[in-house]
Amino acid sequence: TPRKLAAGNWKMNGLGESLAEIDALTLAYPAPACEVLICPPATLLSRMADRLADHPIAVGGQDCHPAASGAHTGDISAAMLQDAGADYVILGHSERRADHAETDAIVHAKTEAALAAGLGAVVCVGETEAQRDAGQTLEVIGTQLAGSLPEGMRAETLVVAYEPVWAIGTGRTPSLAEIAEVHDFMRSTLISRFGKAGEAMRLLYGGSVKPGNAAEIFAVSNVDGALVGGASLKATDFGAIIAAL
Ligand code: 13P
Repeated sequence: TPRKLAAGNWKMNGLGESLAEIDALTLAYPAPACEVLICPPATLLSRMADRLADHPIAVGGQDCHPAASGAHTGDISAAMLQDAGADYVILGHSERRADHAETDAIVHAKTEAALAAGLGAVVCVGETEAQRDAGQTLEVIGTQLAGSLPEGMRAETLVVAYEPVWAIGTGRTPSLAEIAEVHDFMRSTLISRFGKAGEAMRLLYGGSVKPGNAAEIFAVSNVDGALVGGASLKATDFGAIIAAL
């Protein structure tokens, strides 16, 4: 079974003073039992990577541009993230899909760019509440996976995060059976597309993961960790989630 991964997505939160949370986390967890990744805003990336130079916690970006360089004001390439100290990048988060009209084709191109720059990709998928109510969840996830993932993905460089849009920042989560249904479906989809590699790819659940529900979610079949938003901002909360893995 793949090594579990606790990933934190700070979204558009954090100033220099927030690095104190990183110090608290490394002090409390000098050698975490699972892999730990924190994706701060781009402005903090290199400072956080410097701070974590002697610690196994990895850092990642929250998005990248599909092109390697060029006239794209305000954008950041995968190589720039890598140069700033990133090992991973989150791609296709539902907030990017909604706020920046990112399609599966765009996420596909960004994933290729990330791999070309030597980054691992954390590709996000998830249904809206209306899609779940209409019974379309697995169809939506299947379409997003098919469209967002390039050929030849390997378990070392691809992590998939299932984040139901309606569970993000709401305090609501699917039932454990609903999480299992989607994760089992994603596993079989990835195996049929990528063969043996699909067996080892990490599948994260994201959406209102907290210290109080982390252990039961981590016990669900085919859940290999979590992508945590709000609860990753505080060392005490994120530490409790790391400990639950
Ligand atoms: P919350 O944990 O704040 O619900 O956010 C989840 C998320 O979107 C992580 O990428």
